[in-house]
Amino acid sequence: MGMIFETHAHYNDEAFRDDLDSIFARFPEKRIGRVVNIASDLDSIGECLDLAHRYPFMYCALGIHPSDSAPLTDELLEEIRGKLSDPRVVAVGEIGLDYYWDTPDREIQKHWFEEQLEMARQADLPVVIHSREAAQDTMRLMQDHRAEEIGGVVHCYSYSLELAKEFVKMGFFIGIGGVVTFKNARKLKEVAAGIPIDHIVLETDSPYLAPVPFRGKRNSSLYLPYVVDAIAQIKGMDPEEVISRTEENAERLYRLRS
Ligand SMILES: [Zn+2]
Repeated sequence: MGMIFETHAHYNDEAFRDDLDSIFARFPEKRIGRVVNIASDLDSIGECLDLAHRYPFMYCALGIHPSDSAPLTDELLEEIRGKLSDPRVVAVGEIGLDYYWDTPDREIQKHWFEEQLEMARQADLPVVIHSREAAQDTMRLMQDHRAEEIGGVVHCYSYSLELAKEFVKMGFFIGIGGVVTFKNARKLKEVAAGIPIDHIVLETDSPYLAPVPFRGKRNSSLYLPYVVDAIAQIKGMDPEEVISRTEENAERLYRLRS
């Protein structure tokens, strides 16, 4: 029987400071298997590595989120690069462009996105891409850097079905989480319906984006069964099949063995 693979969480977030172990203790009951914890700013790099070494079911991705890229320097990037050979590191991320918060300056965001794409290529790791209101520039930079050779996931996917098909053509996975349960998420439901199941991975982005009926509350991987059910319903599939197929996909994405 498959286990739910959580491809994107931030358990280093202070929202989990008091009860991380009690959340993890309930993973078996909700059939949560492996988790990839994703770094975002400079402080989180060390925290994500620590967590991935402490918990045998956890891996991590190391990288700097576009909104946190202002303090990056070449020296700091070299420090991150040096940690990528750690066996618990399975990806570079999250990296990308965020024109919703739109800070720092777009040229700075683009610069570090490009640098980190190349860092992933050199380390032979996939990328976890964060892209918000920046569809065109994200796609253009991915094409410029031949991202189809690097591979990865577009996490918390928020664009059109048409563009999702382009990412899938590049071999990328589409990360789908709690938003798919929202009543007004017409576009994401279309995406879930329209792309093949073998390019979908499950994620929460915990502590953010809890699914209905917990919308607005702190999210955790424990709520992933709601995302499974939503995708199963949209695709007319058995929830068990959604769990096992997306688990296989996550293994392919992060190049892990079951
Ligand atoms: Zn995230």
